Amino acid sequence: MNQEIHITFPNEISLTIKREDLIHPFVSGNKFRKLKYNLLQAKAENKDTLLTFGGAFSNHIAAVAFAGKEQGLKTIGIIRGDELFDKIEGNPTLKFAQENGMQFEFVSREEYRLKNEESFIEKLKNKFGDFYLVPEGGTNELAVKGCEEILTDEDAVFNYVCCAVGTGGTISGLINSALPNQKILGFPALKGDFLKDEIRIFAKQDNWDLISDYHFGGYGKINLELIEFINAFLEDNKVPLDPIYTGKMVFGVIDLISKNYFPAHSKILLIHTGGLQGIEGMNIMLRQKKLPTLRKNV
Ligand SMILES: *Cc1c(COP(=O)(O)O)cnc(C)c1O
Repeated sequence: MNQEIHITFPNEISLTIKREDLIHPFVSGNKFRKLKYNLLQAKAENKDTLLTFGGAFSNHIAAVAFAGKEQGLKTIGIIRGDELFDKIEGNPTLKFAQENGMQFEFVSREEYRLKNEESFIEKLKNKFGDFYLVPEGGTNELAVKGCEEILTDEDAVFNYVCCAVGTGGTISGLINSALPNQKILGFPALKGDFLKDEIRIFAKQDNWDLISDYHFGGYGKINLELIEFINAFLEDNKVPLDPIYTGKMVFGVIDLISKNYFPAHSKILLIHTGGLQGIEGMNIMLRQKKLPTLRKNV
């Protein structure tokens, strides 16, 4: 569903947001798209278990747990941080995943870095038996295929499409399905220059760019300005944004409009990739830091 944002910008620039956060109550936004064909593949291969990787507040972990339950598949989450094993109750994401049947394996940060190594996967197979492997963040060929379904015929009117970037799967799907007159702008949620190479693995066109000025210090980092922006955006437009991905992207786009980055009459489509389950976990941290919390509902 596309929702127009009623903010008056100079030069007749218009902003519309695609509410991918609303496509499923628990498997939010792009994680739904990325899992769709992977779930079909797991079934086609007769697998009864999904195994994947993620951090303590991962949208992907929550999504895999719920989608697995819905599809009658067992789920195993390899979680970064072995100190978390007795902190599940205080962590809304892990608690949700566990309640939906996910079995956890907590590993140290050093071990977690081995997640793409053949020997580490073998070790996991010995421990858990056969499984369908979903990579961290869910990005692979089939995930990109799912994300190619985000843009539809009604979106042909937009000349810019903006999205948040984590591992690059979502933007790759958008790039592949974009029309020649459309430019895809990605806003990385983390620091680092490796993302362009990742995206080039999957992207079949070069109608895209990354804007790296709006990560707010890195993955999961947040400040008072961003908190106030997200709360005001909810109040004014009735659209909740998450603090890790979509909040930073929308902040960036509006800031770029004010700096005349976009030509006059640009029609900009923002992709709301979901991630709202992360608000609760972020609020626990904000309370500890005595910062204002994020609201999820008007
Ligand atoms: C995972 C996630 C992203 C990043 O998607 P990638 O395909 O990894 O780039 C963006 N937004 C939200 C809300 C997410 O949960």
